[in-house]
Amino acid sequence: MSITELARLPRITAGVGARERVAALAGQGGPALLVADPGLRASGIIDEVAAGLRKGGFTVALFSDFQSDPTIAQADAAAARARETQAVVVVGLGGGSALDLAKAVAAIAPAPDTAARYQLFAHPLPTKPLRKICVPTTSGTGSETTRTSILTRDDHAKIWLWGDEIKADEVVLDPELIRSLPPGMTAATGVDALVHAVEAATNRNANPAASLHAHEAIRLVARHLVAAVENPGDLEARAKLQWAAAYAGIAIDNCGTAIAHALGHAMGSLRSIHHGRAVGIAMLASLPWNVKDNAAFAACAADMGAEPSARGFVAAYEALLRASGMKLSLRQEFEGVTARQLAAQTARPENAAMRDANARAASEDDLLMLAREVLSVS
Ligand SMILES: [Zn+2]
Repeated sequence: MSITELARLPRITAGVGARERVAALAGQGGPALLVADPGLRASGIIDEVAAGLRKGGFTVALFSDFQSDPTIAQADAAAARARETQAVVVVGLGGGSALDLAKAVAAIAPAPDTAARYQLFAHPLPTKPLRKICVPTTSGTGSETTRTSILTRDDHAKIWLWGDEIKADEVVLDPELIRSLPPGMTAATGVDALVHAVEAATNRNANPAASLHAHEAIRLVARHLVAAVENPGDLEARAKLQWAAAYAGIAIDNCGTAIAHALGHAMGSLRSIHHGRAVGIAMLASLPWNVKDNAAFAACAADMGAEPSARGFVAAYEALLRASGMKLSLRQEFEGVTARQLAAQTARPENAAMRDANARAASEDDLLMLAREVLSVS
């Protein structure tokens, strides 16, 4: 029998109004660094969370000087701010980018070095990270429950920091924070969570402990995604999708992703496309090839209320993707990109771990065929 490990889980506090607990979960007071998505400024959410922290005895320094896909320089600037203010806790508020940045900052702030020092596991992270709290305002990336932080280098390469030091101590899921997410973003982020769960449950690293979370995530997305897209104020559906994203995060934290993420990351490095849409399309295009001889897809089909077979999963997945309203054709955005380019990008070393985790081994010829399929989805 092989050895299985389910990594440490953060404490998760969830429900309408859970955001009011942020200060109590942050601790006894002291200096706090709030890393908040600048796109949230108009909503008043940043002010509300900052006011709650002050009421709880914290002095608050705000860092919002970043955009999606935060850079190493931005992580270094935020960490410098944490050191200057002697922050004892970092609160991340926003989508995956804000949470990834907050987690990285809390991990690297205890030492004077740049985030670049720790990229791709070149050096171990400082041993005593600052306390960190993740408050997601989208429901997809699962960053709130993973020990990975993705940053962008000057040469545009996406690199990761990884380790238990990166993982949140506390997660706060408040469905009211997701209610203003527009339908297109709701669909793309929800599909990202679904693809995380399916890949973690069907790849080479799948194990029963992580699959428990993956299968529940699939069930939740299948039941609630379309409701949240069609009725943004449906807090029940929003809450279920928040759990789905957190559970799917736990699944990939332990098992990683697979071929749809390898293709999706390659797509994202060739053209500007939302990550959730990229991996959603990549899964649709690769499924007919990928389900072969993989019985794990039948269990995923059952989660979606479909005939428990590979064929059942392919049909149910496509039906859900179309019902979510996601635009599937890439013809406009990927005009001028050839299948050969996409295949070559997918084969790059930074995508190797995802490609290698896939249960069905993908040869160079397979990658070319899959790239063709991706570009011809309609
Ligand atoms: Zn993803």
